[in-house]
Amino acid sequence: METRYDVLIVGSGVAGLYASLFFGGDTRVLMLAKRARTVSSSSLAQGGIAAVLDHEDDSFDMHIADTLIAGGYKNNVAAVEALVREGPEDVRKIMELGVEFDRNPDGSLNRTLEGGHSRRRIYHHRDQTGKEIVDKLLAEVSKRKNICLEDNAQIISVVPSGGGFRADLFVNGAVASVFAGFCLMATGGIGRVYMYTTNPPTATGDGIRFAYEIGAKIKNLHFIQFHPTAFDSPDNPERFLISEAVRGEGAYLLNGYKERFMHRYDDRLELAPRDVVSRSILLESRRTGSNRFYLDITRRGRDYLFNRFPAISAACLERGVDIAADLIPVYPCQHYLMGGVDVDLNGRTTVPRLYAAGECAHTGVHGGNRLASNSLLEALVFGRRAALDIAGCIRAGYAGVEEIPVSIDPSGAPLSPGLTQTIREIMQRAYFVMPDEAAIRQGRPRVESILSRLENERFALTPEFSEAKSLAVVAAIILREAEEK
Ligand SMILES: Cc1cc2nc3c(=O)[nH]c(=O)nc-3n(C[C@H](O)[C@H](O)[C@H](O)COP(=O)(O)OP(=O)(O)OC[C@H]3O[C@@H](n4cnc5c(N)ncnc54)[C@H](O)[C@@H]3O)c2cc1C
Repeated sequence: METRYDVLIVGSGVAGLYASLFFGGDTRVLMLAKRARTVSSSSLAQGGIAAVLDHEDDSFDMHIADTLIAGGYKNNVAAVEALVREGPEDVRKIMELGVEFDRNPDGSLNRTLEGGHSRRRIYHHRDQTGKEIVDKLLAEVSKRKNICLEDNAQIISVVPSGGGFRADLFVNGAVASVFAGFCLMATGGIGRVYMYTTNPPTATGDGIRFAYEIGAKIKNLHFIQFHPTAFDSPDNPERFLISEAVRGEGAYLLNGYKERFMHRYDDRLELAPRDVVSRSILLESRRTGSNRFYLDITRRGRDYLFNRFPAISAACLERGVDIAADLIPVYPCQHYLMGGVDVDLNGRTTVPRLYAAGECAHTGVHGGNRLASNSLLEALVFGRRAALDIAGCIRAGYAGVEEIPVSIDPSGAPLSPGLTQTIREIMQRAYFVMPDEAAIRQGRPRVESILSRLENERFALTPEFSEAKSLAVVAAIILREAEEK
């Protein structure tokens, strides 16, 4: 890794990887991953990617309508149009790069169904779609000589400097700085601000915090999606997701008495949008006094299930549940962030030369609730758009960044691990599926006081300290928005 680049991409999920492919060979790109390059929400995506590739029984208008309905019409319609109309080209492009989607016996692409979709339009690679896309994009990135991709390189701050940005990072256990003319935040979600989430450990909202600290507009962080069916294992903060595609392929959702109950809450039953199903689970829990819930897919048969859902069936087996014979215990947990760093349709934030794409960005495409399998598509469409915009600015005559090093003293008091745990407990109590107004009012000053300590006391500059700060900033904004709503 050198110290000066044209473009810094923070994150190696689908948004960062795909964006990196749209720069010419003479544009020097640095892409950083906080942990190994494959540790990301992108790699965990199971269900698939939504797109209208076949117009015989589907249309752009139907996909747009489904996205708007799921989003409660709070979506940015121009962003939805771009997503749905341009997305199919990006899906074809990744197929050209080697991504394989499951096919029917006649060779046509298999399409599955998920909640809120009025047509089967989800393309998938068994139940490991994200891993397949990440692997193929990584293979393409490795061929590009202009892209330097570094693992275990955790950015701790990004500030405007020398006509571009200086980013400070932990790499090989020490603090270093790199300089870039343009910066694209592609840092993913914020799941770790909760006790229970489907997100990987990298999802601490760092990019949102960096953008916030330099004055970028942050929007709708309280638009959080809770997935209704994560594997219920209270001991583990990272909950394994039981993809919506399992319900798409016919699973019933059962209450603690092993009865179907969705008919009490929504005509679309198990395939109602995620927010509706999550809320229904909590209401049913209050009605029955039981917080046990299950998915039952046993009627589809062992051969079908172990072939269609190999990762889910193996993960359940590891946890003692045979999905072909047993009920799968499930409960809602944090899953996705619809809000983020506010961007226009080309990924531009309100800070010059700072861009954002993927889950950390707020394009407004998902409105108040994301339609299933629209987020991998969003990462492709808006990752590409941001990269093309940056590439256009570079072509239009960008003078390069000046290297202005600073000296950083990482010494200070050790961080108490209890601080992040407190933030998580507050968020879980105050802002989970159905917000609790009293808990929000009590929790907000506590989170703000933790943030103030992190900002004003002299803690040692460590990777944990940086993440704690991100969690505190994100939690404080969510609770502020929730209280002001
Ligand atoms: C279990 C699960 C299943 C899902 N299933 C689907 C699905 O079927 N279909 C669908 O459309 N969506 C799905 N999603 C959502 C989708 O996967 C994500 O929204 C999307 O992949 C986000 O991509 P991204 O590139 O924005 O972020 P990510 O893929 O999360 O990548 C973030 C990157 O940023 C890096 N990073 C973060 N902070 C720093 C830092 N400080 N310094 C350096 N690097 C940093 C991380 O290391 C990582 O490389 C799923 C999500 C989860 C968690």
